[in-house]
Amino acid sequence: MKTRPGICHRKKQYATREAAELAAREAPFTLRAYRCALCRRFHLTSRTKGMKIPRHELDALRSGQPKG
Ligand SMILES: [Zn+2]
Repeated sequence: MKTRPGICHRKKQYATREAAELAAREAPFTLRAYRCALCRRFHLTSRTKGMKIPRHELDALRSGQPKG
C-alpha cells in the first residue's frame, strides 16, 4: 500500500503491530494494522479491501469477540 506523506503524521502511530491491533479491537468497526513505509511505525486503516484477513479472524468477527 502506498502511503502519502502527510497522512502519516495525521494518523496515530503505534510502535508495534501488537499495540496497533490492540487499539483496533477497541474500535466499533473493523480496522487493520499496517506498517507505514514512511515512519516505519504502524497505523490503522479501515480499508480492508485487498487485504488478506485470516479465516479465524473472520469467524471471530462474525461471532463477536469477547471484550477484554
Ligand atoms: Zn507513518
